Amino acid sequence: MSTDSKIIDGKAFAEGLRTRIAVVAADFEAKAGRKAGLAVVLVGEDPASQVYVRNKGKQTVAAGMESFEHKLPADTSEADLLAVVERLNADPAVDGILVQLPLPAHMNEQKVIATINPDKDVDGFHVVNVGRLATGLPGFVPCTPLGCVMLLKDRLGSLSGLDAVVIGRSNIVGKPMAQLLIAESCTVTVAHSRTKDLPEVVRRADIVVAAVGRPEMVKGDWLKPGATVIDVGINRVPGAEEGKSRLVGDVDFASAAEVAGAITPVPGGVGPMTIAVLLRNTVVAAHRNAGLVLDESAL
Ligand code: NAP
Repeated sequence: MSTDSKIIDGKAFAEGLRTRIAVVAADFEAKAGRKAGLAVVLVGEDPASQVYVRNKGKQTVAAGMESFEHKLPADTSEADLLAVVERLNADPAVDGILVQLPLPAHMNEQKVIATINPDKDVDGFHVVNVGRLATGLPGFVPCTPLGCVMLLKDRLGSLSGLDAVVIGRSNIVGKPMAQLLIAESCTVTVAHSRTKDLPEVVRRADIVVAAVGRPEMVKGDWLKPGATVIDVGINRVPGAEEGKSRLVGDVDFASAAEVAGAITPVPGGVGPMTIAVLLRNTVVAAHRNAGLVLDESAL
């Protein structure tokens, strides 16, 4: 099989998802008499966070939804940030609230996330939504792992009975990824920095999800031939030209693409899914909050 046909094109999938979301958002506006709304709160001037927030705002508007941006100075007190979140909780025009992480060191992230109304927590980080995911109740699922499952199901159809190895156990990616794969009836192993003989563990997997933050760590000879590889990692490394950099994943793409049955590239794989899924979660939240019926599985 050529490498091209093995590539899981997250950029194209995310584009299709955004088109479906725009149709649903227009239908919501017609029924509710208002647009679905996403509020994004940014504290401080971290350049990467500013880029993310700008992109989220642009894509929200492009999908026919309302974007509310709240930019607060880096020295904002935690109490003032919590007051902003409370105001957004009470605002009927706001369906989804996202507080851009990381927050400045003087703030307690857990406390801030816990203040968001779980029914507006479109990032899926609130403990109530973590509990809903773990117990199979409808809630909100973190965007990046949900995007990974969408790509896997699009490529493989049913995941039932497949052996999956998730490398990484963060609250944002690894743990919710494992929960989602369990819900899809995979047999799931979660590996981390203390795992013994990681290549041997990875070799068992029909599905490998790498969410580590270590450039090109997973090699082709770690993989079972034909495995489906989802590379969540985004690592900036020095480029071929001096002074230039490039992005690579947690998987060594060249060697892995030789052995894998399908693989996400970096960039253009998982990355573009995250904001698209955020918009999906927002339009879902809008329907739930307005008491309108939506076939969520079609999104
Ligand atoms: P994280 O919180 O730093 O977690 C990394 C995980 O990898 C930890 O569980 C850690 O194990 C494990 N790990 C570290 N070194 C390892 C090793 N040598 N062998 C096996 N496991 C090891 O990172 P994260 O937030 O989950 O993000 C992971 C990667 O995904 C990063 O590159 C990040 O930039 C990227 N990311 C991308 C998106 C997106 O595409 N939109 C979104 C989120 C994150 P311990 O728990 O034992 O320390």
